[in-house]
Amino acid sequence: MRTDAKSAELLALAQKRLYPNYKPAPIVVARGKGSELFDVDGRRWLDLAAGVAVCSVGHAHPKLVRALADQAARVMHVSNYFYNEENVLLADALCERSGMARAFFCNSGAEANEAMFKLARRHFFAKGDTKRTRFIAFHNAFHGRTMGAVSLTGTPKYREGFGGVEGVTHVPYGDLDAVKAELSDDVAALIVEPVQGEGGVLPAPPGFLEALRALTSERGALLLLDEVQTGIGRTGHWFGFQSTGIRPDAMALAKGLGGGCPIGAMLTTEELAGALPPGTHGSTFGGNPFASAAARAVLAILEEEGLVDGARAKGERLGAMLAELARELPEICEGERGVGLLRGLVLKQGFVVRDILPKIADAGVLLTAAGERVIRFTPPLVVTESELAEGVAAVRKVLTALPR
Ligand SMILES: *Cc1c(COP(=O)(O)O)cnc(C)c1O
Repeated sequence: MRTDAKSAELLALAQKRLYPNYKPAPIVVARGKGSELFDVDGRRWLDLAAGVAVCSVGHAHPKLVRALADQAARVMHVSNYFYNEENVLLADALCERSGMARAFFCNSGAEANEAMFKLARRHFFAKGDTKRTRFIAFHNAFHGRTMGAVSLTGTPKYREGFGGVEGVTHVPYGDLDAVKAELSDDVAALIVEPVQGEGGVLPAPPGFLEALRALTSERGALLLLDEVQTGIGRTGHWFGFQSTGIRPDAMALAKGLGGGCPIGAMLTTEELAGALPPGTHGSTFGGNPFASAAARAVLAILEEEGLVDGARAKGERLGAMLAELARELPEICEGERGVGLLRGLVLKQGFVVRDILPKIADAGVLLTAAGERVIRFTPPLVVTESELAEGVAAVRKVLTALPR
């Protein structure tokens, strides 16, 4: 337990008052700058987690701060009974970059996936094809915590005790034969992450997304991409699917989109514009000018600072550093995997990342786990190579000192 004065007091209050559905590290963050975070007692951490791929332009980026302050001083919320300038321009910017035609806004990744779930069912309902209600999703997939999103999620322990929405079949990620066997004429949609994030930083095998596109088109089902973690530059493309030649029918965004301001989005093709007519779906906060201004500022910063291409280049450097570390410690590490600045160091069977992360935090670096055995790196896209090297050095020090 931390003994610094202010941290200790707040941690004690947190134990008493916060609902205990999380198990946070005993760190009470007060402020950040770029890739650094500082706690209430002034201690510094290097943040290579970025709030799980959320703080895409780092902490307290001056341009994002100014955009939010200016927008708050103008108008924060107007509801969806009216248009607002920031939201209309954001919709245009996202469609332009993705090749999609329409944008629906919400407040989180789960909500964006929930919207896609409803979109797919209503699309076939509106066409009179009432048989097409099933979904295909993948083992280890993570799509969020609402009842619809958790039903799509492919980790049984996240669904246990909750029941859920009927009609979702999970098949192994990367297994085209399993998809073929399940993709009958009662399937409305297939949902897939271009890289499974929470499930263990598992990139789709080469050709997999292309094959899913071809199969779903051939059999009349929709292809839905969950780009909540992979979208907005993280993979070295604006969207993860852009390393392939395909286009999805709809995609979900959130995490990095607002740079820390809560916002989610569903982008769809023009063909699906009629699936959710007025009255069928909505969100009070969705598309508000405050969050929209944040997302527009994030897109502008990523563009001005070349951070999307930067994610590819820095990601390759990080991948090389992690691969070298894995070669140095073959009794602990299995290898490295990932795309762009979504990377994982895979540990050998028997090592539990959850138990190692506190030691890495003690060494001054914040990271997260993906699955049981993967140390996940999702740094801010503004991270520098020397910060990445600092982070890998801290991980090396901690892993080297582990009892074997
Ligand atoms: C984080 C995540 C979600 C859930 O997003 P929330 O904002 O927590 O609802 C959904 N899908 C993927 C791929 C994610 O990484």
